[in-house]
Formats: sequence, structure tokens, C-alpha cells
Amino acid sequence: MIKHVIDQKRCDGCGKCLEICNLELWEIVELEGGRKVARTINEATMACHFCFFCKDICPRNAITINSEEDEVLGRIF
Ligand code: SF4
Ligand code: SF4
Repeated sequence: MIKHVIDQKRCDGCGKCLEICNLELWEIVELEGGRKVARTINEATMACHFCFFCKDICPRNAITINSEEDEVLGRIF
């Protein structure tokens, strides 16, 4: 299973991750106070094909992607 971790302190809701994901696994949500941040939809844990486009395009370096296998192996992306 793939896990996307978004650092909400870094994310500024620019939407680039949402635009580049060809599987449409991202959405922008509004936090209390009105600030917008990105998050993945529920299906992303199963559907993501690990292309890393979202992570690579994020100008704020706010996205971490890993899988249970990586956690077992201790790999960090
Ligand atoms: S590309 Fe990065 S900063 Fe922009 S919405 Fe996505 S996670 Fe947030
Ligand atoms: S790694 Fe690729 S498929 Fe997965 S959420 Fe990011 S852009 Fe979408």
C-alpha cells in the first residue's frame, strides 16, 4: 500500500500536484481559517503507480511518498 504524506506547513495549495497526476488522485481542501492545502483522495493508496511526478513538481518539497515495503526495508525517498 502506498502512503502519501503532505507536510501541511509547507504546502501552499498551489495545485501543481493535482494538475500533474494523470490518475487524478489529488484534491485541494480548505483548512479551518481558510488556508488551502493538498491531500490525496482515498483511492490513492491503492491506485497510485509510483511515478513521483507529484513529489518532483512540488515547489515546496511538501510531499513524501512511501510504501509498506519501503518501511520494512527502511528506505527513505
Ligand atoms: S504541489 Fe506541493 S505545495 Fe502545491 S498543492 Fe501540491 S503539495 Fe501543496
Ligand atoms: S506518484 Fe504519480 S500516480 Fe501517484 S499520486 Fe503522485 S502523480 Fe499521482
